[in-house]
Amino acid sequence: MSGPPAIEVRGAVRRYGPVVALDGVDLTVDAPATGLLGRNGAGKSTLMKAILGLVRLDEGSVQVLGADTAREGDRVRRRIGYAPEHECLPPELTAADLVRHLAELRGLSRADAIRRASEVLFAVGLEEERSRVIGSFSLGMRQRVKLAQALVHAPELVILDEPTNGLDPAQRSEMLEVIRRVSRDLGVRVLISSHILDDIRRTCDHVVVMREGRVTLDRPLAARAGEDDSMLIETVADPAPLLALLSGRGLQVEAAGEHRLRARITGPADRAAIRDAAAEAGAGLRRLHPDGPSIEDELLEAIG
Ligand code: ATP
Repeated sequence: MSGPPAIEVRGAVRRYGPVVALDGVDLTVDAPATGLLGRNGAGKSTLMKAILGLVRLDEGSVQVLGADTAREGDRVRRRIGYAPEHECLPPELTAADLVRHLAELRGLSRADAIRRASEVLFAVGLEEERSRVIGSFSLGMRQRVKLAQALVHAPELVILDEPTNGLDPAQRSEMLEVIRRVSRDLGVRVLISSHILDDIRRTCDHVVVMREGRVTLDRPLAARAGEDDSMLIETVADPAPLLALLSGRGLQVEAAGEHRLRARITGPADRAAIRDAAAEAGAGLRRLHPDGPSIEDELLEAIG
């Protein structure tokens, strides 16, 4: 993607008395959908508010779309949508009135605000409920109103703090599907926080893990770099004939203990070749799996 990255955080420190909420965070966010994962209290909300320029840093800086949030907060916030974690919706307003009103506050003309409110409520699946008062909505619907208001002024980036908080499994799935659609179909970059690993895996291409105010992992999610490099082959029978066969076919293979081989592979074709060769050699393939910790292990370790 050309132009400056969506978000660049450098040496961010934020203290609340003795609590260090951000303890030297360095981070570049530029994927279509990035997940911020960490336990409660890890510093996710503080980081999001610092990105929005709503929390002042004690040290360091944040640039959003090339602008400094401390110096150009208003300009930055016009280009970002934000859905805070906590309940903040007036129950007496209809969804359409609230979203339109917030659009007007962000500078849209009345006609544009009405049109955009209708579009974003459609995008989050609330077109039929748009004229109902928010007080009558389920929590899942209220979370979707928060998302709609974050999108109404056509931001380039939306920041969603714990958008699945308190939702039951069905509502959660719906919400994650809506977020994925927003990121994919509307082309809006998304930064979403959650303490649930599965939320991030289902919506994001990149994950950043925070623990006690620090970034402990920052990596793409779709295809783990190096995931296909090294595979373990577990066999029922003696793997020596399979080793000979695979070596003969140009694969880099070595013995890795009793009934185990380790092979370097470069893609799915190699995996199929291993399966075929195992059948041919009568090795009895028991398992073929990546060598090394799984992504879940890696993420859980980073979360702490
Ligand atoms: P949660 O999901 O529970 O909000 P989080 O990862 O978003 O967790 P933060 O809300 O950023 O974490 O909090 C990080 C730390 O800073 C916590 O120890 C929290 O108690 C503290 N903290 C955050 N805001 C304040 C505040 N306004 N005053 C005092 N301490 C605060």
